[in-house]
Amino acid sequence: MQPEPITNDGGEAIAQREDAILAPYAMRSAQSAGRVHLETPHPYRGCFQRDRDRIVHCSAFRRLSDKTQVFTGKLSDYHRTRLTHTLEVASIARSIGRALRLNEDLIESLALLHDIGHPPYGHAGEDVLNECLGDEGFFCHNSQALRIVEKLERRYPEMPGLNLSQEILDGQAYRVSKTFKDKAPLLESQVVDVADSIAYNSHDADDAMEFGLLDLDDLLELPLWREADRRVRSKFKNLHPSALRGALIHELIDWQVGDVLTTTMERLEQGNFQSVADVQAAGVLVKPSDPLAKQQAELKKYLYKNVYRHKEVIAERELTQGSLREMFYTFMKASPEKLPEKFAEVTKEEGHARAVVDYLSGMTDRFALQTYADLHL
Ligand code: MG
Repeated sequence: MQPEPITNDGGEAIAQREDAILAPYAMRSAQSAGRVHLETPHPYRGCFQRDRDRIVHCSAFRRLSDKTQVFTGKLSDYHRTRLTHTLEVASIARSIGRALRLNEDLIESLALLHDIGHPPYGHAGEDVLNECLGDEGFFCHNSQALRIVEKLERRYPEMPGLNLSQEILDGQAYRVSKTFKDKAPLLESQVVDVADSIAYNSHDADDAMEFGLLDLDDLLELPLWREADRRVRSKFKNLHPSALRGALIHELIDWQVGDVLTTTMERLEQGNFQSVADVQAAGVLVKPSDPLAKQQAELKKYLYKNVYRHKEVIAERELTQGSLREMFYTFMKASPEKLPEKFAEVTKEEGHARAVVDYLSGMTDRFALQTYADLHL
């Protein structure tokens, strides 16, 4: 076989490969609106492939390995971290995207980016940083992801941030607002949203059972779990409880992905879409069937009440929030030089409160604990 000729970013060979494998309504590298700072095309990587690589190599991505998803590292080493959750989302999203013949490089980039703005201690950390900012603005992990890749990451001497393709920035911006006017988000972006819900609904329940916050009989009150249980028991008899739990999580994900695929494919066939513009004019197309959406919403509500608001989780939440709050006010009173040098520019341009929040939100759980101990508060 002849080696593929070396070509430019979005160039002929990449365009040919994408045309051969992608659906007409999938986003192509050659259609990208490009990057804010002009760059020389890469000889053999397409633009979304480069975006994916930039995200994986940036420091905010590495720090996800020690950031809380729902449960802090104090409790065990079984549960998901923000990094493993991110990889699970990317895995589910790529499976859906490949079956729909969408652009997997774009999907993977969006999935790997989606939680990069999370502060230490999960949503507890997010809420307290938002509270600390007060009148100075707001903090939300989705918009922080944009700050990181547009401003805070420093990998290239000639520009701030990662200089990602516009489609990646637009996809993340949609996560902030969750609204759009005439143009729906790209299908690749919609896939990541759906995959995120499937991943956290299933895995947060799994982690909560591992910690003994929930037991299986509780979950079987929910129609979604009852149906998964029925499916598993039709395949296997007399499973040991731990094997049953694993089989149920697998079934839940597989069944939800299958449902999303079947219903989305039906919508795509009915619409007879021939371009990216066609699907964007048609609203949100990647979503579960109505009955599954209802069951997912019930599970979400259940997890909120019984896991995210469980007294042990709340006790941990209050401890971690207290330490972040104290650190915020300590750094606010201290001279700006107490922050790493790269935040001096933020203090100058956007005020010290924003710089302190950028600094604190970039910390891993471990680094936040250490910093708190070092401050002797
Ligand atoms: Mg997520």
